Amino acid sequence: MALTRRDLFRATAASAAIRLARPAFAQAETKPVRYCVVGLGRIAGHYLEGSRSSRYTRITALVSGHRQKAEKLAATYKIPAANIYSYENYDAIAQNKDIDAAIVCLPNSMHAEYTIRAARAGKHVLCEKPMATSVADAQAMIDACRQANKKLMIAYRCHYEPLHLKAVSMLREGRIGTVHTIESAFGFDIAPGEWRLNRKLAGGGPLMDVGIYCLNACRYLTGEEPAGLKGNMTVVGNDPRFQEVEEHVAWTMRFPSGVVANCQCTYGVGMNGYFHVRGSKGELRMEPAFNYDGLRLAARIEGEAPIQEASRERDPAQFPRETDHLAECIAGDKTPKSSGEEGLRDMRLMTEIYQSCGRA
Ligand code: NAD
Repeated sequence: MALTRRDLFRATAASAAIRLARPAFAQAETKPVRYCVVGLGRIAGHYLEGSRSSRYTRITALVSGHRQKAEKLAATYKIPAANIYSYENYDAIAQNKDIDAAIVCLPNSMHAEYTIRAARAGKHVLCEKPMATSVADAQAMIDACRQANKKLMIAYRCHYEPLHLKAVSMLREGRIGTVHTIESAFGFDIAPGEWRLNRKLAGGGPLMDVGIYCLNACRYLTGEEPAGLKGNMTVVGNDPRFQEVEEHVAWTMRFPSGVVANCQCTYGVGMNGYFHVRGSKGELRMEPAFNYDGLRLAARIEGEAPIQEASRERDPAQFPRETDHLAECIAGDKTPKSSGEEGLRDMRLMTEIYQSCGRA
């Protein structure tokens, strides 16, 4: 039987779908993992709150530059004050037997340093996205964790979210036929003064922060890696917020099967995060797709009743799913689904997008 290029890509995509959707590893062997949260800003709050309803997640230590803030959180979440560290004495977590892993919740350019220091201290790492601000840093993080024989997971929460997994399964099953196009966007109107506008801390603008959701989604929706991409970035007017990072980025990606993806992200205006996939037999859309809760999936398929599904989960449900997954990986000695290598792939592609936009 002669296989067409499409058949081959479908077969590859199908195996990728199974990987993405595979259920948790042998749960019986999983022990709770004791996490140290590094950086106590907004996202850290979701992990702290999420740990209350988790199966395998305990938060036993905090790292912060603000002692008072850390003490207040420690009291709320019943974390011993003796387990509060500063950025300076962070390496002393090596001697703390109550810490198995670190969750790195710092500004992007600090991810590499605090991941590498955690690995050297003998701790596993769950690092927020974007993994780093350069390909070299991302590779150094992978190398440090490998050398220390510790797990490295990147916090791509959508990889574990049931509606995203359903969308991927529907595509792999060919429910909307042969996929032709994907559109995806995500953005918000950023407040002045945010570290996200500082290139040294953020590494870039909305692409590193929210565009990464669109980029990553196109990869898991197709199960393919882009074969080529082209980007454009702009700032409207002389908006003083955008002296160091871009305001808007739009880019297209061409996938080996012929799928073309059209993505954009912004810090200039509110842009509900979504993706829309069009195929030969119908279309599938998630909007909002990337929020912490309230996600919705809709599909129109030839000859079928319209499909509408809304997630009933409430924030912070997506967070313990990630920390519990890492616990399962530690117990089963498995590579996390959203591994360091997965973060590195996005880092390489974001670098290519910036190069295509002409950024120095
Ligand atoms: P935030 O500003 O709310 O928190 C950052 C924390 O880092 C603060 O506690 C701050 O005190 C500390 N910090 C230490 N050194 C700093 C410095 N030099 N400048 C600024 N802050 C410093 O940021 P956030 O929104 O929590 O984002 C943190 C990380 O989490 C980022 O990498 C971001 O991309 C990621 N994030 C992920 C998601 C997600 O859904 N997965 C959502 C939001 C943020």
